[in-house]
Amino acid sequence: MSSPAAVPVVNCPTCGKTVEWIGANRYRPFCSERCKAIDFGAWAAEEYRIPERESPPLESEA
Ligand SMILES: [Zn+2]
Repeated sequence: MSSPAAVPVVNCPTCGKTVEWIGANRYRPFCSERCKAIDFGAWAAEEYRIPERESPPLESEA
């Protein structure tokens, strides 16, 4: 009913670039493999983040 040429468009979660949601774009919703890798890397970094000690218990203050 509407324009037949209308293509669903999303924004790349990594860089915000406009991405056409088409079968040819195998990296959707990302604009490129690079952005996909970056997002996956961020996810992995979050997953494997080690709960480090915040700071040594230093009671003495100058
Ligand atoms: Zn991107």
